[in-house]
Amino acid sequence: MKVAVTMTYPRSLARTALFAIVYGAAVLLGWRTATDAAGIALVWPAAGVTAIWFCAQRHARARWADAVALPLVLAATTLVTKTPTLLAALLFGIGGVLQGTVFALLLARWRPSLWGAGGIAPMRAPRDLWGMLGAAIGASACGSVAAVTGEWLTTGRLPWTHLGLYLTQRTTGIMIIGSVGVFAGAALTTVTARFGSAAGWLRHGRARLAATSRWRRAEYVVILAGTTAVYLAGFGYTDRLPLSFALLGGTVLVATRLCTPFLLLHNCVVTVIAVRYTLDESGPFAHVTEPIVRAAIVQLFLALVTVVGLALALGRDERAALVVALAREKAELVTQQERAAAHSALLAAIIDTVAGGLVVVEPDGHVSLRNPAATELLGPFRDIRNTGYRHLHLDGTPYAIHERPSMRAMGGENVRGEDILIQPPGTGPGHIVRVNASPLPRPDGTSSAVILVHDVTAERRHRDELTNFAGVVAHDLLNPLACLGGWTAAARDLLSDLPPHTILDQALDDLTRADRAAARMRGLIDGLLAYTTARKAEVSAVPVDLTALTADIAVARSDSAAAAGQQEPRFTIGVLPAVQADPVLLRQLMDNLIGNAIKYTGPGVTPALTITAARTGDTVTICIADNGIGIPPGQHNSIFENFHRAHPDSGYHGTGLGLAICKRIVERHGGTITASDNPGGGSCFTFTLPAAGLSGL
Ligand code: ADP
Repeated sequence: MKVAVTMTYPRSLARTALFAIVYGAAVLLGWRTATDAAGIALVWPAAGVTAIWFCAQRHARARWADAVALPLVLAATTLVTKTPTLLAALLFGIGGVLQGTVFALLLARWRPSLWGAGGIAPMRAPRDLWGMLGAAIGASACGSVAAVTGEWLTTGRLPWTHLGLYLTQRTTGIMIIGSVGVFAGAALTTVTARFGSAAGWLRHGRARLAATSRWRRAEYVVILAGTTAVYLAGFGYTDRLPLSFALLGGTVLVATRLCTPFLLLHNCVVTVIAVRYTLDESGPFAHVTEPIVRAAIVQLFLALVTVVGLALALGRDERAALVVALAREKAELVTQQERAAAHSALLAAIIDTVAGGLVVVEPDGHVSLRNPAATELLGPFRDIRNTGYRHLHLDGTPYAIHERPSMRAMGGENVRGEDILIQPPGTGPGHIVRVNASPLPRPDGTSSAVILVHDVTAERRHRDELTNFAGVVAHDLLNPLACLGGWTAAARDLLSDLPPHTILDQALDDLTRADRAAARMRGLIDGLLAYTTARKAEVSAVPVDLTALTADIAVARSDSAAAAGQQEPRFTIGVLPAVQADPVLLRQLMDNLIGNAIKYTGPGVTPALTITAARTGDTVTICIADNGIGIPPGQHNSIFENFHRAHPDSGYHGTGLGLAICKRIVERHGGTITASDNPGGGSCFTFTLPAAGLSGL
């Protein structure tokens, strides 16, 4: 997480002043650890303070003041405590600014989530340590080069040995103080968010302490006291006790058993002990007489203690965080699994109780899911290729295995509403099921098939009975109707010989009305017969030249309009691709639609029809647009129902069966038909048919 803290100018200047004071104190403290006249300090805490100073509150307004204050404080303290030239002191100061800036930049680049590097996190893993160590070495190198240059300019000698010493001295200072700074900074930044206030944090600390077992508390006390005692003994009585081997062991113990802030505290205590006793000529490094070498060894020892301790502690922290994350993930996984189990139980219950049959078939043909309804309809088969039940077309011809909806769905086809006659083994009549099958793609590129079936036997039987009934009734009504026509003709003949009389005129009028009623009834019967034919007749699809067929109908319609003394319709016929259809049914379809387009025209308007078609893949889409009276809103679907008339009282004669027949014909060819408004006025009927050259109808 990145944070941008804005700060007022006075607060920013106060911040600079505070850091400057702490920095000055750190410089004085550092000089106090110098062991000889040349001023070789054993530790240089000012390097760590600089690192924190230049990292803390990166967004403070008066950051420039830091760069001014640091060299001034350094020059002042150095000139007071030592006697270098002003130039050397200034170069020393510039080196300090450079060092702080480089550290802040490198840390922001390598560990941007750390507090002071742009984020608010404390060090949590070894890679944070390595990032900080890299930044410390880089920054120390810059600061050391500047310091050595200062010495060279003032003394005329280039003190190479000092360069290495400064490098370790500063790196160690940054690592010891910097690590404490990052932890403390992160804790202070997040204390309000995590605990509400400092008091909240204290309460939390007390609660944690209370929750800690007595053994654990005792372990803390014993390890801290024991390792401090080992360090004290190692440095205080080294001449008598050979305890050097135990020193680093003490740090390892603290790092592996105590939490990281205690290690940081321990590192500071170790630093104080090592420096204090070495200055007093005691401890394992006291017998090194050369001050520079002694200082270098002390630095190396402290750097090693800090880095080893932090590496162990942070490695353990990282593992602990991973374990917590893993436990959380595991808990989430368990919750998800429970949810998934409940969900699948619900699904299973739904699937088992739905009336329709559901089957999922894998690419190798075996059934991976099936509900009881599917077993009842299709049988208790395990492999779709061998169900034991016969699959037949409605005309009784058997389905080839590759023709079955399940196999076609596995090949990628979406099968919609296909009726299949299923016959169980034995002599039973079987039942008709309506099948929908869809492919279910699998990761390996193959497809399973999801098959939905429901029993339509009763529905189909009922519909077929109704259709047969309509056909029989229609057919049987034609005879009495023909008789009626004969009797009205005979009556008209008889009346024609009588002398004129008003009652005679009335009688002739009545006969005309009877004839008209009989004609209407014949139209209705013809429609019913055509409807039953369209439903039942075999579809013998052959390639049909749609352009020629349409032109033929257009000529016939124009002729009959001329013969009836009506306006001749205007036809615009585009290039119509050949279709694969039954020629008789297709003619009936086109004639019905063209007839309607001419019929439903406003009074005095010359019917104008535009007939176009386009082929897309295996399908031809045909559109018949007219300039007629249009379809009333909301009736674009219902006009395809039996006997539905959208303009019943407008003087247009009809039975309401024509479009039902058209729909049936189109569907029997595997197509669809819709009606819409023609953008230029009138209506537009669009339907699809298979393109010529396709077989299988
Ligand atoms: P009908 O014998 O009444 O013409 P149809 O089934 O052919 O029966 O048509 C059903 C109804 O759809 C018609 O009554 C009419 O209201 C409407 N209709 C059909 N074609 C058209 C058209 N081209 N323009 C406007 N309305 C139409």
